[in-house]
Amino acid sequence: MLVEYEKPLEQRRYPVPKELAPGEVLVRVEMAGICGTDVHLWLGQLTIPLPVILGHETVGRVEQIGAGLGTDWRGAPVSVGDRITWASSIVCGECYYCRIKRQPTRCLFRKAYGISYCADQQPHLRGGYAEYILLRSGTAIFRIPDSLQPESILGAGCALTTALHGLERAPVRLGDVVVIQGTGPVGLAVLALARESGAAKVIVIGGPAHRLELARQFGADEVISIENEKNADARRKLALEYTGDYGADVVIECVGHPSAVAEGFDLCRDGGTYLVLGQYANAGNVPINPHTITRKQLSVVGSWGFEPRHVDQALKLLEATEWKHRFAGEVTHRFALQQASEALETVRQCRSGKAVIVP
Ligand SMILES: [Zn+2]
Ligand SMILES: [Zn+2]
Repeated sequence: MLVEYEKPLEQRRYPVPKELAPGEVLVRVEMAGICGTDVHLWLGQLTIPLPVILGHETVGRVEQIGAGLGTDWRGAPVSVGDRITWASSIVCGECYYCRIKRQPTRCLFRKAYGISYCADQQPHLRGGYAEYILLRSGTAIFRIPDSLQPESILGAGCALTTALHGLERAPVRLGDVVVIQGTGPVGLAVLALARESGAAKVIVIGGPAHRLELARQFGADEVISIENEKNADARRKLALEYTGDYGADVVIECVGHPSAVAEGFDLCRDGGTYLVLGQYANAGNVPINPHTITRKQLSVVGSWGFEPRHVDQALKLLEATEWKHRFAGEVTHRFALQQASEALETVRQCRSGKAVIVP
């Protein structure tokens, strides 16, 4: 668990609850994904109530179910021994954003497993980097068919659900030219969805080389290496050459570095859409020229997190298509629970496609 920012994670033992309250689910963790957000949390770039058991992308087997819970979020029966995953956050359903503005991702009381729960407080087990996790009543759980491997679900991870929400707010349409900035898990998930949406051409800007290779496997028509093209002007020239002079209908930022946003406006066609999807940590300000937004009539869209229905959509996509294999192929590194710090370091240095913990 994360006890102190930037320090190695520590291991602690907590009692596994014997008696469950109504609606709770005790899960034996089979596999937990390391998300880029975990690295931000580790480095103290987002404030959380330490100590925290990290891990908000998790697959496990139901060990015990509290009274009154017989079905998952979709209404399918769930029993002990079933493999499940779940939406990482729970919203209040009552606040201004939940009820009136229907934007539950901005719920004022949203709590996420692996992020918002202090491990010092009962019942302690609220994160995925653990042998067991205790899910609160009201968690949106999803039973997973045995045909769907944990690697597929965690290869897709919260990146796919994040991308589904983002593209709902800034859709890619049939025949669109799309530029994706970034080849991390979010960039690859967006690429998959752009392909599913019928994009005519998808250009991806990113690195390192093993990530660009994954992007090609995911169906990128053109890739631009940020290692080879270190200069933003050179990248823009190349991207505009690939988009065909006018720029892309939709440009999607999945980098997380603020400078990518200034660069991205120039890659949109006039009247195009720019989706800022990767700025999960507050990495500071950059100069942008707002004249570009007015003159080019750009739509600039943000998107935060996802809802249970996006988990449903993600699982349906994986169940029904070949994407299950491609996302499973993204999992390149496996770590034991004791190696969690090493796992975070691997993700921080972009050495992995996707890293997972197998407790
Ligand atoms: Zn995440
Ligand atoms: Zn709320």
